Amino acid sequence: MSLKELVEISRRYGADTEYVIAGGGNTSLKENGILYIKGSGAPLAEMTEVGFVKMDRTQLASIWQKTYPANANDREAAVLADMLAARLPGEEHKRPSVETLLHDLLPFKVVVHLHPALVNGLTCSRNGEKCAQELFSGEHIWIPSINPGYTLALAVKDALSNNGNKAIIFLQNHGVFVGADSVTEIDALYHKIMETINGHITICPDFSPLPVPADQAGINAALAAISGNTVLFALNKGFAPLIKDRSTFTPVSSAFTPDHIVYSGSDPLFIEKPEGTIEEHIAKAWKNHSIKTGRSPHIVAVQDVGLFGIGATEKAASLALLLFTDAVKVASYAQAFGGPLFMDSDKIDFINNWEAEHYRVTR
Ligand SMILES: [Zn+2]
Repeated sequence: MSLKELVEISRRYGADTEYVIAGGGNTSLKENGILYIKGSGAPLAEMTEVGFVKMDRTQLASIWQKTYPANANDREAAVLADMLAARLPGEEHKRPSVETLLHDLLPFKVVVHLHPALVNGLTCSRNGEKCAQELFSGEHIWIPSINPGYTLALAVKDALSNNGNKAIIFLQNHGVFVGADSVTEIDALYHKIMETINGHITICPDFSPLPVPADQAGINAALAAISGNTVLFALNKGFAPLIKDRSTFTPVSSAFTPDHIVYSGSDPLFIEKPEGTIEEHIAKAWKNHSIKTGRSPHIVAVQDVGLFGIGATEKAASLALLLFTDAVKVASYAQAFGGPLFMDSDKIDFINNWEAEHYRVTR
């Protein structure tokens, strides 16, 4: 297993939208006391050898001997500082993945961490833990929903010492880590995970586009004026049944994973079909929502009209719609495992306030 092979496997999984969207996921290799971990700044599909950060594994391991502040933000800041200090000389300009500590813990040469919609259909479902046990019969570890960073790495460390080494780690409301000593084994494990889950899926949404309704233009202009941002419209066969009314929108009305929060926001706004002046109707709904949540929405669903993705740039608006589409997939797949399960509100708040995730969206 070489760095060249790590680049190859990163690019291959990164380019496959069944496995990765919006540049999510990360990979690593351990060799001669060095951890090569994906750096922030480039998506997996475009990784090169220099895109990996070289880190001293002895120094990373020493993090576990230290005591950190009890306050979550203070602790994450202190751990981040120690993690950055573990970069080898010459690597100081690079930013290692927020999941570096977890990669280093896993006793495998190569680790590929992804957030596939299919896998999250399982990890974001009410009976996910029980179904994972039935489907993977103990070849895996299930980590209950937890804040990312140090807290997550610590939970995995404890789970490994209680259960022994497992090649598959499902993270509730997040994704999956797969570890092995060769690319062939990683491929075989991912193939098995995807085939197994796919074999149990009962609903597969169809995203074929539908005609753009006449009301779209006026609402789009009103949203652009009130947000001061770029607004993109989408309507397809997968979205239409969700925007019938407030109750049909419920399965996608919050966030499933940190990725959904970072790109689509944790609070999509549902607006009843406008009556009277569109501008006033939209402005009132926007204002009430912003007061209630303390944030502006990235996704606005208008009853029987369609979905609007909102962002500072066209790319951000389109990513909001892309991650919303991913959430629709997750909600549909989760039907096979007892129905969808959102992140808890305290974990949503943690991501909304987390510096490291902020870095990802501003990269
Ligand atoms: Zn992740």
